[in-house]
Amino acid sequence: MAKPTGPACNLHCTYCFYVEKKAFLPEKRHSRMSDEVLETYIREYIQSQPGSSVTFEWQGGEPALMGVVFFQRALELQKKYSRGRIIANSFQTNGTLLDDHWCEFLARNNFLVGLSLDGPEAVHNAYRVDKDGGPTSGKVLNALHLMQKYGVQVNVLAAVNSESSKQPLEVYRFLRKHGVQFIQFVPIVERDAGPESVKLGIPLALPPSMTRLDESTAVTSWSVEPSQYGEFLISVFEEWIKNDVGNIFVMNFEWSLGAWAGAVPGVCYLSPRCGRNLIMEYNGDIFSCDHFMYPAYRLGNILDGELSKMVESSKQIDFGASKETALPRYCHNCDFLFACRGGCPKHRFARSPGGDPGLNYLCEGFKKFYHYVNPSMKRMVNFIHRGIPVYKIMEATSIMT
Ligand code: SF4
Ligand code: SF4
Repeated sequence: MAKPTGPACNLHCTYCFYVEKKAFLPEKRHSRMSDEVLETYIREYIQSQPGSSVTFEWQGGEPALMGVVFFQRALELQKKYSRGRIIANSFQTNGTLLDDHWCEFLARNNFLVGLSLDGPEAVHNAYRVDKDGGPTSGKVLNALHLMQKYGVQVNVLAAVNSESSKQPLEVYRFLRKHGVQFIQFVPIVERDAGPESVKLGIPLALPPSMTRLDESTAVTSWSVEPSQYGEFLISVFEEWIKNDVGNIFVMNFEWSLGAWAGAVPGVCYLSPRCGRNLIMEYNGDIFSCDHFMYPAYRLGNILDGELSKMVESSKQIDFGASKETALPRYCHNCDFLFACRGGCPKHRFARSPGGDPGLNYLCEGFKKFYHYVNPSMKRMVNFIHRGIPVYKIMEATSIMT
């Protein structure tokens, strides 16, 4: 994942965990990727990929601040270094800068766009605000409709925070009403700064160690409550399984079904180990993960070393392995470990009932959700094995209710 503008963004969302990361970069104000970094990155990244297809993920901050010209150059360089590989691009944006020119470009070049949209106006505007604290939902909805008009593939990322978690059906029905077919719900969890973060000059807590109890600060006011997160997913699932299976793809449910079916996990935090989602900052600095962009997790700079060596470094391998090796006993004894895998290490700052460190803060919500969906997941897997289309679960569900 590359961040061509670093943490720079035209908005000022209250819950953004990345804006503070400018403290770890040389340029605090106008961070923009140079052509030298871009070309080195594209060459190295393509070379480091073993398969026949290569996906570039552009993120931020707000990558649209770079303008279309930057991405036209990226496509040229991808072509130059592709050596017959199939290249794909995904682009994560707040949508507010997208106009006809952007949408035509994104559609023509088959970019998969992740659009941050939290739900109805009041829900979205609660935290996703501009630099003056003003609302942004109007501009984001315009971007959604414009992308739909141009045929851009859109996946909505909806944050589940302390406000939106209280309105699951309003959020889901709103997205459905606006023609969104691909949705990913992202729980928002951050803690207030502890002494170590204060020393580094950042307002949010550092990641937990998982093997010892450390900065035990409170979660921020915008973080979702564990139980509320589970209830949010359950409410949406109830609506989805009666009406929308096979038509709307809620990735949280699709990945769960994959786990029940024994498929390879579709996302890092549901995998036994992680560590393959490195990020590159605008200046070429490489870090272990978007959620671990801290000095201790810096692996080097693309201009100074080979990317593949950083990916295969013992530091990065250990980082990815710790997701599994640091699991508390409580997780090893859990019926849903196969689907949950302990979640993201960034959120593993709670203690298990037995007092062990390293339990996911959201565990209670995960358990509620997995317990609730267990019978439906088993039935859908049974359908798959018998060659029955999974959407038929909607008929079975409506007969039962
Ligand atoms: S730390 Fe979390 S977000 Fe990063 S790769 Fe691991 S599971 Fe994914
Ligand atoms: S649901 Fe809780 S106990 Fe079970 S694997 Fe996930 S985090 Fe661990």
